[in-house]
Amino acid sequence: MITTDHTFQPSASRTSFRVVANPSDESLSYFQPSAKRGLTSSVVLLAGRCAPSSDFARAKFESSSRQIMISSLATEGIRGVLLDIEGTTTPIAFVHEVLFSYARSQVRSFLTEHFGSAELHADLQQLREEHAIDVKQGLQPPALGEGSRDAEIDSVSEYVSWLIDRDRKSTGLKSLQGKIWKQGYRDGTLKAELFAEVAPALERWRQAGLKISIFSSGSSLAQKLLFAHTEAGDLTGFIDNYFDTTVGSKTDVASYRRIASALRLPAKNVLFISDVVLELDAAGAAGMRTLLCVRPGNHPQPAAERYQKIRDFDEVQIPES
Ligand SMILES: [Mg+2]
Repeated sequence: MITTDHTFQPSASRTSFRVVANPSDESLSYFQPSAKRGLTSSVVLLAGRCAPSSDFARAKFESSSRQIMISSLATEGIRGVLLDIEGTTTPIAFVHEVLFSYARSQVRSFLTEHFGSAELHADLQQLREEHAIDVKQGLQPPALGEGSRDAEIDSVSEYVSWLIDRDRKSTGLKSLQGKIWKQGYRDGTLKAELFAEVAPALERWRQAGLKISIFSSGSSLAQKLLFAHTEAGDLTGFIDNYFDTTVGSKTDVASYRRIASALRLPAKNVLFISDVVLELDAAGAAGMRTLLCVRPGNHPQPAAERYQKIRDFDEVQIPES
């Protein structure tokens, strides 16, 4: 083991950390030895693993310390954290394989049970409008049946499946899915999956006085349901705001300006974390700080080298301001 202690001073705050290099498996681990803000024991700032290389003996401490400094500087002055869900707080597989499959399997029975209700009426109207646009654009969606109740339920179910297959960010679909998931979460069939360190990080950031918000293409109802029914319990107490595509597209700079304004924070004091480079581009153009979240199962991102990467939320160190 090779242990070295480092100190750096990103403007006002001074941070010390320890790097432990293990030549047997060529790993590097970074620890903050002193407890901060009431946190107990060592706080892992960043756990890294070097690619096997002949120059491991030097352990690349210089570049390692630079990396940590950038991590800290990138989050300096942060007063709000804005989080994506899919690929950031939650495995993509949970959304696609569990949530979407559940919605697809339940849509027909849900429509049958609630057909004619006021809450369903607006979603069906929205879906019909979106269907008309799909037809106009020559996308050939399954036809919507008119006349009998059963024909309408069958055809809407098919259209919903067609939208799910295409992972469409349809407002009508998202709203209907939210209602179906609500039933599943309430009866205990669904339990939301989060990466292991997410709940403790939310709690830590909240204790540090940060505003925590979500920006996801899932409806705000679906977002609240997800965080209310996680394997780690109900986390909605840590989250201040939920933004969905009613604020705008996730790749549109105006959406992030609207969010900063809704949070009553200057964009530069908001840190956005997402697994999608196009979203970081938009948030960055609005003035937000950004981190690219690289999780198992995420899609490779083009030009990802332009962004600082984190593999989990434990790597995000937000200095006291
Ligand atoms: Mg995502």
